[in-house]
Amino acid sequence: MQDLIRQLLAEIGEDPSRDGLLDTPKRVEKAYRFLTSGYDADIDQVLNGALFAVDYSEMVIVKDIDFYSLCEHHLLPFFGKCHVAYIQRDRVIGLSKIPRLVDVFSRRLQVQERLTNQIAETIQAKIVPLGVAVVMEATHLCMSMRGVEKQNSFAVTSAMLGAFRTASRTRMEFLELIKLRSATPVLGRGTPAGLACVGED
Ligand SMILES: [Zn+2]
Repeated sequence: MQDLIRQLLAEIGEDPSRDGLLDTPKRVEKAYRFLTSGYDADIDQVLNGALFAVDYSEMVIVKDIDFYSLCEHHLLPFFGKCHVAYIQRDRVIGLSKIPRLVDVFSRRLQVQERLTNQIAETIQAKIVPLGVAVVMEATHLCMSMRGVEKQNSFAVTSAMLGAFRTASRTRMEFLELIKLRSATPVLGRGTPAGLACVGED
């Protein structure tokens, strides 16, 4: 990877051998290894020992989870807040594990819609709750830094499964509790093209 970074530096008109850039390839490699470390994570190991049996059901919400990811179209960061809720059936996840799950899927090359769905589907698969909701609000540097469609550099995506999809009261209760800083999200699994980085240029 370090050779590639040296080549990249030369391609953009830099001198990879000047003092300030000598250690850059090493640093960039280290940063990319960390920012993409989610590929190697084993979900079951992440959740290990953190699934508990319960005999009541209620909505569990973890909101304002910070996340940082890389857009797969431009390899530039998109980052913001993730809000997760689920209604347990007979199992719960340790609360500290939810941010860990968000990290695992964020530390990959992503598009915001897929990231949102992967978090929801993993919780759905692991604890089989009555419903799962995930909302992500993010700023996309690939759009704001390049000055394209500035109004769209902030995007909200959501994945609603089970009760959050079928019962509008449950969904509204969740949305009320997380109080989005922007407009109401587009509900459902897909987000119309144009709302998030679509990688057209
Ligand atoms: Zn992008």
